Amino acid sequence: MSMLLEVSGVSVSFDGFKAINNLSFAIGQAEMRAIIGPNGAGKTTFMDIVTGKTKPDEGRVTWGERNISLLGMSEARIAREGVGRKFQKPTVFEDQTVLENLLMALRSNRSPFAVMFYRATAADLARVDELASEIGLSDALGRKSGELSHGQKQWLEIGMLLAQEPRLLLVDEPAAGMTPAEREQTTAILVEAAKTRAVVVVEHDMEFVRRLDCRVTVLHEGAVLAEGSLDHVTANSQVIDVYLGR
Ligand code: ADP
Repeated sequence: MSMLLEVSGVSVSFDGFKAINNLSFAIGQAEMRAIIGPNGAGKTTFMDIVTGKTKPDEGRVTWGERNISLLGMSEARIAREGVGRKFQKPTVFEDQTVLENLLMALRSNRSPFAVMFYRATAADLARVDELASEIGLSDALGRKSGELSHGQKQWLEIGMLLAQEPRLLLVDEPAAGMTPAEREQTTAILVEAAKTRAVVVVEHDMEFVRRLDCRVTVLHEGAVLAEGSLDHVTANSQVIDVYLGR
């Protein structure tokens, strides 16, 4: 199977401290993957490397069918290549409606010149309807985003990222602060999204990871400690030691 993203032998040091240590990771075209690991394991730094925010000291990061290197590309260029990132805190335009937020996200796909003279077309509105349905906000299109619940804001931001048609979506602790019902819907949204693109979920909540029902990568001290099904990795004695802090 050809991989969408391949990270191999990547290392990063901060002031002599190896935050990422010879890390290798690969994900396929329409794959869901959970990344877990204790605080300081390197999860955030890993996402920073993939999105181009942090440049590794060594190693390779290759992308797509042509295996082009993401190293040396700007963050903006990597985003245009199709890497989308959802940070933990939702960042939506609170004064704008759900519809306006989604339209704005669609617009950002266009050239600056096109955006200046932009009028929403029937096709755009149809796409917004589709996105709203995917994120469970069809009935909230006319509502100001600032009035949405925390969970709804998170879904809206996922919808705004999906509007940009990423091939890989990186999501940081999507279920944090959510009610059980919201967690369930978040699972459904991510599982649906991963049918047509790669989705990497960084998560602490094991119950949430279990629901994602996907391959799990355990990071520890900047490297992969274990990989496989959740049952497989949680039966690994090294993983148990790391989680119990032994
Ligand atoms: P995680 O997201 O798994 O909690 P991080 O990627 O945030 O882990 O951090 C990995 C390690 O690298 C930690 O020990 C952290 O303190 C260190 N680190 C991360 N970013 C920096 C930085 N900019 N400068 C110095 N140390 C950093």
